[in-house]
Formats: sequence, structure tokens, C-alpha cells
Amino acid sequence: MGTAQPAEAVILKTQAELAIMREAGRIVARAHQAMRDAVRPGISTAELDCIAETVLRDHGATPVFKGYPKVNAKPFPASITASINEELVHGIPSEKRILHEGDLISLDCGCSYQGFVGDSAFSMAVGEASPAVQRLLTVAEQALDEAIRRAVIGNETAGLADATQRFVEQHGYSVARDYTGHGVGREMHEPPEVPNWWPKNARKRGWTSVPLQAGMTIAIEPMVIAGRPDLKELADGWTVVSKDRSLCAHFEHTVAVTEDGPVVLTVL
Ligand code: MG
Ligand code: MG
Repeated sequence: MGTAQPAEAVILKTQAELAIMREAGRIVARAHQAMRDAVRPGISTAELDCIAETVLRDHGATPVFKGYPKVNAKPFPASITASINEELVHGIPSEKRILHEGDLISLDCGCSYQGFVGDSAFSMAVGEASPAVQRLLTVAEQALDEAIRRAVIGNETAGLADATQRFVEQHGYSVARDYTGHGVGREMHEPPEVPNWWPKNARKRGWTSVPLQAGMTIAIEPMVIAGRPDLKELADGWTVVSKDRSLCAHFEHTVAVTEDGPVVLTVL
């Protein structure tokens, strides 16, 4: 969510705060696991939303997507975003959206636990994946891994963006240009922005590359489009789709930058 803009002050986390964020991340991972187990032809995205929200609340966490405000749209009505095939991000769960064999589904979920947020997304095939779906899933997940292993002291957000872009484009796909990762902490969206793409004129555009420091917590989230990078928002004010209707995938983890390297917080 968001576009690349000048950076404001980054909020570094203490060890104690990182420990809470690890718990928040674990709860999100549990919600992911429950959804992954439930994805099958015939299930609706509203049912997946219900499954995820139940896991969050059962663990003392609250969904952070629900009620999320947006200019010119109704607040987001659900605990997850569920985006199918050509939908990249921010799909609204619905009883009418039924998954079919061979679909590609992207599920994003965030929670707040003891005052701190975990934010993570994954994509998967419904039933058997076609070779096209499987290849896109593999490349998009690897793009996230490529960025995560560069989340080290001495690197900058531009380094993550550049690595993500190069990896994705080498495989013949596009990265989303107008949607970025972000700092995470007490709020789901904190400085800095963590772009997936770094144009040659980035600085002219007013983009700032932020040095990574110990105690930074960032959501790294490559959004990969099988075709051209152009996107559009649907009339619901939320759902973002590829203009050429090509398949999209989205993987995200909340990651802490530490003296010992990157630590992924949104895993079991
Ligand atoms: Mg997310
Ligand atoms: Mg995010």
C-alpha cells in the first residue's frame, strides 16, 4: 500500500519490542497456515477471511486491515485481502468469490498484538498449478528471498528495490512500481517506504534511499506481474489488477534488520 515518497524518521525497535513483533508475526503465520490448509476449489474468499480472523482473535491479536481507511473508498471491510489471478493486491473477500481449480490466490494478512504489527502475504495455486502459475509463484517467492537476504546493515532500501527489480525482470516478469513495502511497528505503515523498483530518476522523483540499521523492521513485499507493469484499481476502490489481465503474485514478510543479519518475524 502507498507510493514512494521522501522518507521521514525511521523508528528503531528495542530487543523487547522485537520479541513482541516476533509473536505478532507468528500469529500471522498461524493464520496463513490455516488459510493454506483451507484453500481448495469451491471455498469462498469470505470463508478464508473468517478462518484467518478467528486465528488472530484466538491468539489475542486484532486484525489491522479491518476498517483500514482510504481516501475515496469505504474503509477496508475484512481481515485479509484475497486477490485472484489478475488481481495483484487488496482484493475484498466475498461470499461470491469462489476459488476454482487452477486459480492463483494471493492472501495478505496483518495483525496487531500487544501494540505491534505483523504483516505478511503469500500466493498459492488452488488445486493443481499450471506450469505458468507455478513458474510465476516460484519466481515471486524467490524475489522475496533475494530481497530478504539483502536486508543487512550497510545496504539501503534502494539496494533491495534494485535487486528485486533485476531478479523479476530477468525472469521476464514485471514488478509493481506504484506499490511498495514499508516500515512496520506500532503502525502497519511506518517510514521508510521499501520499493520493489528503483528507476534511474528515483532521486529526481523525490525518492529517498534509506540506510538499513539494526532495529529497523520492514515489510518486504515484491508484487510480481506476469505481463506488463501497468495496473488499475477497480470500481470498489481497493482491488488492484494488471491492466493486461496477466497473472499476479505477491509474497511478503515482516523482517527485522539486526547485527546478526535479517530475521524473518512472520514465520511459525
Ligand atoms: Mg501485507
Ligand atoms: Mg505490507
